[in-house]
Amino acid sequence: MNKETALVVFSGGQDSTTCLFWAKQKFKKVLALSFLYGQKHQKEVELARNIALKAGVPFEVMDVSFIGRLGHNSLTDVTMTMDQEKPADSYPNTFVPGRNLFFLSIAAVYAREHGIQHIVTGVSQTDFSGYPDCRDGFIKSLNVTLNLSMDEQFVIHTPLMWIDKAETWALADRLGVLDLVRNETLTCYNGIPGDGCGHCPACKLRREGLEKYLSTKR
Ligand code: ZN
Repeated sequence: MNKETALVVFSGGQDSTTCLFWAKQKFKKVLALSFLYGQKHQKEVELARNIALKAGVPFEVMDVSFIGRLGHNSLTDVTMTMDQEKPADSYPNTFVPGRNLFFLSIAAVYAREHGIQHIVTGVSQTDFSGYPDCRDGFIKSLNVTLNLSMDEQFVIHTPLMWIDKAETWALADRLGVLDLVRNETLTCYNGIPGDGCGHCPACKLRREGLEKYLSTKR
């Protein structure tokens, strides 16, 4: 297995873009893998492709659009209105059940085909929604399962697991890509790149994090 190459699960959003540049600093060679999962805003894949091009990173897209047909969620179902708040007893309907399970499983098979040991994902346990497939316990469990399933020694890296959005901006700044992340990534649930629509939950979280980080710099 190639210990010097990493595969980044890459959506073109703030988190995975920061991870892409983190990986470029840690590993000799980096590859980026994006997914079409039936998301309403498929242009995020084109933005991701452009960022990968700028980063000089080979880029590939996998079509896994069956995920959007398997379970109902407001990121893939155009008839569904997005939850603006997290319901008290559940997850917001932006939760795509199985998404990270499928993404990382496919990434591992892809990595194995290319002789890659290291896989990087931008999941974070401090994520506001508390999606279960973003938690450390899930990632560690899946890492063991993937290794057992293919008799490999994959290492899943989660550089953002324990940091919040402000610290993610700080990391992007340290990596010299604050402006690139700010202007060219797509996090907004309404599909608007950069600073986004400003009012969806993803934009709010992103903006609050940026304001908090910038206020510490002054
Ligand atoms: Zn938005």
